[in-house]
Amino acid sequence: MADNSFNAFEMAQQQFDAIAEKLGLDQGTRELLRTPLREYHFTIPVRMDDGSVKIFQGFRVQHNDARGPSKGGIRFHPQETIDTVRALATWMTWKCAVVDIPLGGGKGGVICDPHNLSMREQEQICRGWVRQVVRNVGPVQDVPAPDVMTNGQHMLWMMDEYERIMGGKFPGMITGKPVGHGGSLGRTEATGYGVVYTIREALKELGIDIKNTTASFQGFGNVSQYGIELYQQYGGKAVCVSCWDNDDQASYAFVRKDGINLEELRGITNKFGDINKKKARELGYEVLDGDKWIEQEVDILVPGALDNQINGNNVNNISAKVKIIAEGANGPTTPEADTVLKKRNIFVIPDFLANAGGVTCSYFEQVQCNMNYFWPKEEVLTKLDHIMTQAFHSVYQLAKKKNLFMRDAAYMISIQRVAEACKMRGWV
Ligand code: GLU
Repeated sequence: MADNSFNAFEMAQQQFDAIAEKLGLDQGTRELLRTPLREYHFTIPVRMDDGSVKIFQGFRVQHNDARGPSKGGIRFHPQETIDTVRALATWMTWKCAVVDIPLGGGKGGVICDPHNLSMREQEQICRGWVRQVVRNVGPVQDVPAPDVMTNGQHMLWMMDEYERIMGGKFPGMITGKPVGHGGSLGRTEATGYGVVYTIREALKELGIDIKNTTASFQGFGNVSQYGIELYQQYGGKAVCVSCWDNDDQASYAFVRKDGINLEELRGITNKFGDINKKKARELGYEVLDGDKWIEQEVDILVPGALDNQINGNNVNNISAKVKIIAEGANGPTTPEADTVLKKRNIFVIPDFLANAGGVTCSYFEQVQCNMNYFWPKEEVLTKLDHIMTQAFHSVYQLAKKKNLFMRDAAYMISIQRVAEACKMRGWV
């Protein structure tokens, strides 16, 4: 499914330009917001376990910080590019604005494949990453977090390196840390749960009982696993998940019409979310090629993996039964596919709204770190649900009032908020 002509940053700019035009934004604000404020490109030398030295390429992009410190994850991915990081940083700005938390947008990345790196080598990459941007990140400037193929352990190594250099304790410099080490309860669940809070609200608006719905999830990492958990708790039936298989360098879809068993699948999944095909077959799952997640006859599709997964090539394979697409991943749907979804009247919960639960809980983590007082899980999840529900309804109300596609309505709210902050600060 790899499409070499796809450029996520061009897509982010194309989406922005269309809304800037609709809003009649002035030229200066348009130029400011369609480009990141700052970006850092650097190398990270690592002594590998076999004694050789390997040089990794790292990035951090700060798209906009008019509403607060830049905020966003760090991805470890072999296909990482600066344009992907630029796009993701831009989407973080809109994400923090749509849920109205006082943070801007940033993103980082390293070109590497953790599948082929030991824990020691990954630790060296994390520490090297921090050493290169130590003056440019931190609790009042730019706060990283986990993203694709990074987790709490990586965040803790990064925090430790930062604190060693700065000579103090700065738990608010990074989020997504393990619980007990400055992390917040609920952070691991937050992105997946947040997606499902928005699905729950969308179904209410469409007059559909969640208990009568089925869903297909792409990806079996953090977002999908917790998304499925809450969706099934609410009584929905997840019938398909797909995931990457590193040995075959291909993805597969795992289907069970009477509903997948989350615990069972978790038991045969590695830490990257790759499900063991052989064992899945033994457990009675039908194993199909990866693209098939999109063709399932379900009510809800949840792309929860990477960008460019619903595009001109496959959008027409979406079943007529699908009513909602909730974007757990960042940038999964291209503008070309959007045109088709609009025509078919499929209700899209756009990425930077649907998956904002992660960053919202990161914001709670920062607040708790600053107070040095940690909340019970119930309190975190209640606050999270409140913010996600409120954000969903603000976007939905605007979409309904002005007859807009949900993505366009969400963009309007976010861009206006950020543009206003830039204007009030006298930047434009
Ligand atoms: N990486 C996540 C995202 O794309 C979370 C970012 C954060 O918690 O700062 O939203």
